[in-house]
Amino acid sequence: MNDMLKTAQNTIIKTGKAMGLAQDVIDRLVQPDGIHEFTLQVKMDNGKNKLFTAFRIQHNDNLGPYKGGIRFHPNVSRDEVQALATLMSIKCAVAGLPYGGGKGGIIFNPKEMSEGELERISKEYVRAIASIIGPTKDVPAPDVNTNGQIMKWMLDELIKINKKQLKKADLEKLKATFTGKPVKFGGTLGRTEATGRGGVAITEALLSKLKKEKSEMKVAVQGFGNVGYYFAKIASDRGMKIVAVSDSKGGVTGEKSLDIEKIMNCKKEKGEVAGCYCVGGVCDIQQGKKITNGELLELPVDILVPAALENVINKENMHKIQARIIIEMANGPVSEEAYDYLTKKGVLIVPDVLANSGGVAVSYLEWFQNMKGQVWSEEKVNKKLFGMMSDAFEEIWQTYTKEKSSLKQAAFETAIRRIIRKAK
Ligand code: NAD
Repeated sequence: MNDMLKTAQNTIIKTGKAMGLAQDVIDRLVQPDGIHEFTLQVKMDNGKNKLFTAFRIQHNDNLGPYKGGIRFHPNVSRDEVQALATLMSIKCAVAGLPYGGGKGGIIFNPKEMSEGELERISKEYVRAIASIIGPTKDVPAPDVNTNGQIMKWMLDELIKINKKQLKKADLEKLKATFTGKPVKFGGTLGRTEATGRGGVAITEALLSKLKKEKSEMKVAVQGFGNVGYYFAKIASDRGMKIVAVSDSKGGVTGEKSLDIEKIMNCKKEKGEVAGCYCVGGVCDIQQGKKITNGELLELPVDILVPAALENVINKENMHKIQARIIIEMANGPVSEEAYDYLTKKGVLIVPDVLANSGGVAVSYLEWFQNMKGQVWSEEKVNKKLFGMMSDAFEEIWQTYTKEKSSLKQAAFETAIRRIIRKAK
């Protein structure tokens, strides 16, 4: 069994035991409802057929249809897909969504494929999973190496398969089978920024509980991709001081708040964030300097936001972390050992299942608009997201203050309580 699956299952077992649940209830929470494995046969550009192994794992649908992305990667494995499906059940329940957890994946490197091959693989996958997905059964979305275009291909294929037997209105609803679609094909405004924006909403909810002024918070963000960039930009627009950012090649830090948009423009030009401290207006930061990713994590800031990779805060560097608040925007950036160590030292760590649930929350809003035949403004989506995130935070905070354990334990407890309450 791989480490990610072991950790996900152990956290459920540990939490279930702490809640006093019976062993059969815990076992049922650990075991997925269904593991679907397929062999796809696809014609390549050279005219030869190639076989691909693909999965769709449906973990638990007590709260509603399974929800979770589809990953294209050479390292996809059944264990990895199962771990991610399990964590989606927890994340959807934490965010208060009427969804269970699912995940899909195909083992291959999409970077070695032509666009035509990618389209044929995507459509063959849909033919394999067509009978087990649908707006009220299982709702996939993009994940690593999949995007809106791939969701559109998949939806086109699903419509083709169902065209003869479905009425026009039901065909229209079929759109809700996939989220993360391009906006002009039924996607929602606000999805691109949603994970970062949701993280900022959670951070603000936490600061308000701690009675801290956000304008006084110094924040360091590791990772300047979809999640890190939008977190930094939205947090900065809303008054927090972003004093350090980085990408895979290193980062920059300054005494005053950094200009996130200027750094993004500079990154686009130079291909990296490091060295962007002295470009245009960013030169105003007299103390600005280059830092490594390791140094960023150890800065004397109030809030640390790992938004790139897993396991970056671990037993090697946990003693050097100075931030009193960590927002886990990446999946699993704080190792189990470091989480326990830092929590015991009084560091508040908002777990990934809560911190980065803004993406799936807006996926739910896309699904909801498709089901009702509505199209919302970006402002409405953003406002709803903030409301959903602060509600999600509130219940976990209540459990946390009552039990005095950790925010992670409180999040898993809240999720498990919601899932078992709806057990069939
Ligand atoms: P991305 O590919 O857009 O960006 C990743 C960023 O991390 C890039 O800026 C890259 O340069 C940087 N990076 C890579 N290696 C690094 C290193 N060693 N040190 C510092 N930075 C490094 O990915 P993303 O969509 O922003 O996702 C980031 C994390 O958030 C992942 O763990 C992902 O699973 C998680 N996540 C993403 C979403 C989403 O909606 N995109 C939702 C939930 C969780």
